[in-house]
Amino acid sequence: SDLDPLTGVHNRRGMMTALGRERERSIRTGKAMCVGLCDIDTFKAVNDRHGHLVGDSVLLAVAGRLIANLRPYDAIYRFGGDEFLVAFFETAADQAVGIADRLRASLSHMAVRIGDGVDISVTASFGLCMVDASAPLESTIQHADEALYRAKRDGRNRVVLWQPDGAAGGGGA
Ligand code: GH3
Ligand code: MG
Repeated sequence: SDLDPLTGVHNRRGMMTALGRERERSIRTGKAMCVGLCDIDTFKAVNDRHGHLVGDSVLLAVAGRLIANLRPYDAIYRFGGDEFLVAFFETAADQAVGIADRLRASLSHMAVRIGDGVDISVTASFGLCMVDASAPLESTIQHADEALYRAKRDGRNRVVLWQPDGAAGGGGA
């Protein structure tokens, strides 16, 4: 019931409770924590071009690739249709950007077999925000979403770290 039936990763049920607990721990221990949103680029076109079943298999492949490339102590949730939330614990901002960019690159190199000898590839964009004692978890996620929006606007297939002053950071294609 807490698992997404398609991808097998956790769904949003219980997510805020679990992340809130980790946020408290992060603040208590002084160890940085980062929240990231990963959204598949132009995913609607995959559905339109190849059908919903192929779209489903791409979603499954993306989830699998993310899981395989996350560290065992990171967390991943299916946040929405083609969007995943990842959480990096005990991870500073520059490190988080590096990890997310590694995930991004790995996804971009993945071939998804959709039929007899036919492969397609996808990319994804990432928006990151560091957990902050002065900001509730909801606004941290909102800021990650703003960074994701910027990653999309700046051309997709890139990582953007939310900055308090609105300046962009991170790596791209
Ligand atoms: P962008 O780069 O801006 O993210 O473009 P996009 O096409 O990915 O964005 P948009 O939000 O327009 O489309 C997301 C699509 O994801 C639309 C929806 O049909 C598809 N989708 C959501 N959930 C599922 C699912 O479970 N299976 C399949 N096959 N498609 C899904
Ligand atoms: Mg998308």
